[in-house]
Amino acid sequence: MKHDPAKEQTLVVLKPDAVLRGVSGEIITRFEKVGLKIVAMRMLDVTKELAEKHYPVSREEWVRMMGEKTLENYEKYGISAKERHGTEDTLELGKMIREWLIEYMQESPVIAMVLEGPHACELVRKMLGHTLPLLAAPGTIRGDYAYDSSYLANKSARAIKNLVHASGTVEEAMYEIPLWFDKSHIFSYTRVEEKVMQE
Ligand code: ADP
Ligand code: MG
Repeated sequence: MKHDPAKEQTLVVLKPDAVLRGVSGEIITRFEKVGLKIVAMRMLDVTKELAEKHYPVSREEWVRMMGEKTLENYEKYGISAKERHGTEDTLELGKMIREWLIEYMQESPVIAMVLEGPHACELVRKMLGHTLPLLAAPGTIRGDYAYDSSYLANKSARAIKNLVHASGTVEEAMYEIPLWFDKSHIFSYTRVEEKVMQE
């Protein structure tokens, strides 16, 4: 598939904390208001298999990065990862966090959608803000709706609750979308704003 930045697609998943807190509508409204088009949407229980594919252990660099983020956060607060989790190895810590994440995605139904629009991947990530809600700027979804940190999350041996998943890059989107949606469930239509915003 050829990539056109003017018509990009990204996978967005409203995670269990968004659904359980009843803020799904508010979050979806933000995406609609900025001009992103919903081209697919469904509520589903995430199976372990889907969660494992969505967060593949083979993405070693990503797994390690999660461990690194936790180590950095622990250092800031003088916590020993070795004492708490039995290891300081970033890959081992990352794998442990990935397990928490997979469990977390199964705690309630989630709402998955495909959003389409110019620079959709970058735009949605900007709207989400930093992975750690504590560091996400006010005005971003994570910054406005949460305050979670690795400190709080890892103390309770759980994943960070940051409301929304969105593909990090176009490549990630191309990998993720087919995991969640059959091609026949992705729609095509024109929104009235497109004329005003794009022509
Ligand atoms: P993002 O969701 O911003 O792309 P990542 O891909 O790095 O972030 O991580 C995936 C998800 O794993 C995050 O959204 C968050 O819920 C959880 N997570 C990431 N890092 C940690 C961590 N250090 N401790 C606990 N949970 C984490
Ligand atoms: Mg990510």
